[in-house]
This record gives sequence, structure tokens and C-alpha cells, in this order.
Amino acid sequence: MPLIKRFSWLTFAVILSVALVLGISRSSIVSTATNLTAGETSPLLASAFTAPDPSGEFVLPPLAYDYDALEPYIDEQTMMLHHDKHHASYVKNLNDAIADYPELQGKTVETLLQDLETIPEAIRTAVQNNGGGHANHTMFWETMTPDGQSVPSGASAQAIDTQFGDFATFQTAFNTAGKNQFGSGWAWLVINPAGELEITATANQDSPISAGSQPLLGNDVWEHAYYLNYQNKRGDYLDAWWNTVNWDVVNSRYEQAIRL
Ligand code: MN
Repeated sequence: MPLIKRFSWLTFAVILSVALVLGISRSSIVSTATNLTAGETSPLLASAFTAPDPSGEFVLPPLAYDYDALEPYIDEQTMMLHHDKHHASYVKNLNDAIADYPELQGKTVETLLQDLETIPEAIRTAVQNNGGGHANHTMFWETMTPDGQSVPSGASAQAIDTQFGDFATFQTAFNTAGKNQFGSGWAWLVINPAGELEITATANQDSPISAGSQPLLGNDVWEHAYYLNYQNKRGDYLDAWWNTVNWDVVNSRYEQAIRL
């Protein structure tokens, strides 16, 4: 009898644990999905990480690879400082900026950047700089990989050839945009408001989203992105960086954008 009793309690405990685990994972899946769409007013290529977490705060997304994984093209210390310090401070400053504006909380950062004119003037520049910094860097980490393919494939490869003639011409034009960006900023491959692929550059942390474009690929040309390894040789960094590009992710972003 005691044996049966113990068995029953054990069985009950196991069933309860399984139910709890299932319940927790189900509720976190549901809440993640809710957050991804919270505040969206129009289709945007939002990273899963640019939506606030269930606490309502933006969080620094973890890297999907080790700090030294992109060596020799990007060194470990640069990655550590860039992700853990620079990106982290954009996230913190963005949270601080919207702390007193509950109407802005729960939206993805892409939604905040899409129409900066609607952001209260007192925090507009802070959202532009730090929201842009969060969105730009989140995409930057996602579009790099230790297993970079040297050339694109799929629909985006075809579109690049159609728009720019061939891949080498595209690369040269992208590098030129990065070299010519005076001071800090980014070089981009975007889908512009006319629906065409375009190479652009932005200053500081300005996002192409604020100009109505969908970024597919961006390279950070702030000195903090390359100075430890490349010093003043921005051109060498721009050339080497292509070895890190994750064209599968770029292609997915392109295919998603043209479906929207
Ligand atoms: Mn940066």
C-alpha cells in the first residue's frame, strides 16, 4: 500500500512538472509572438530582438557566435567592446529615453524609427540616435557569420546583378559609399521606397528605415568598428569585412521584403 501511495505521488509530481513545463513554454511562445507584432503599424523587417522583451524594455541581443569567431577580419577585443559596450549603451539610452512615454513602449524599434516626426520632440534625437544604434547593430550582428559565403545566392544575387551589373561592381560601389561617409556612419544595401535595390550611406546611427527604405545589409564605418585592428585604414576594413557576410540572412531579408 505505501508503495502504491508513493507511486501515485510520484506519478502526480511527474505529470504536474510536465504540465508546468509545457505551460511555461507555451506561454512564452505566445508572449514572444505577441511582442513581435505589438505596435506594428506597417510591414517592416523587424528582427526578433528589436521588439521589447515581456518586461517592456529593449534588451541587448546575444551574439550568435563567439567574440573571436570573425577573426582575422574582426578581432575579438573589437567585437567585445562593440557589442558589450557600444551596443549595450544604445539599448540602455533608448530605454531611458522612452521611460516616461508609455505610449511608445511595447513597439518595435523599427516602428519608432519609421516615423520620427511622431516622436515627442524632447526625445526625438535620443530615439533617432539610440533606436537607430539598436536597430543597426542588431542587424549588423545577424548579417555576419564565421561561415561567410563569398558571394550571394538566391533571389538577392539575381537582384544585385540586375541592379548593379555584377557582384564586383556592387561591392566596389558599396565600399565607395563606406569610404566616402565622412566621420561616423554606415554603408547600406537597401530596398528604396521605389522598390529598387540601392546603395546608400547614413551619418551617425541614422537608419534607412527613417527614410522609408528597408535595409538588407549594412557595414558600420564608425571608428569603434575597426580602429583597434585597422587604425586609419578604413578601406582595408571594408575590403576584409565581405568575408564575414552571411548572404543566407541577406537573402532571407530580401525575400521577406519583396513579399511584404
Ligand atoms: Mn557600431
